[in-house]
Amino acid sequence: MSGEPQDDCLFCKIAEGHVPATIVRETETTVAFRDINPQAPTHVLVIPKAHYKDAATLATADPALAADVLREAQAVADEDKLESYRVVFNTGAGAGQTVFHAHAHVLGGRGLQWPPG
Ligand code: 5GP
Ligand code: ZN
Repeated sequence: MSGEPQDDCLFCKIAEGHVPATIVRETETTVAFRDINPQAPTHVLVIPKAHYKDAATLATADPALAADVLREAQAVADEDKLESYRVVFNTGAGAGQTVFHAHAHVLGGRGLQWPPG
């Protein structure tokens, strides 16, 4: 996986501005936007603009870009003034991954149980 945009990828389309989203932050390498089906008062997805199918593939192929995603997760939490928050990378269909373009869920603004179930 080279990071090239994929025609059939929803998050590539959001990164390119071809599908609308409520964007909260954008950098040269990442976009952060509100999840369409929020599970918490803050539920933001942080994606690399480049296409990698999941977080582990991203981290192996481009560790600096994976670090950009993590820094942006922190920035989202800071902007929403979250004292505590959760960052989730669902990896694989069995773990609930439905969009196969790497993304961090940033969840906060309510109490969060662990394990999540
Ligand atoms: P996953 O289940 O792959 O970890 O997370 C995918 C997330 O993308 C889900 O939380 C889902 O609600 C969100 N999502 C799916 N389609 C769209 C969309 O068109 N726009 C936005 N903003 N979020 C979406
Ligand atoms: Zn993609």
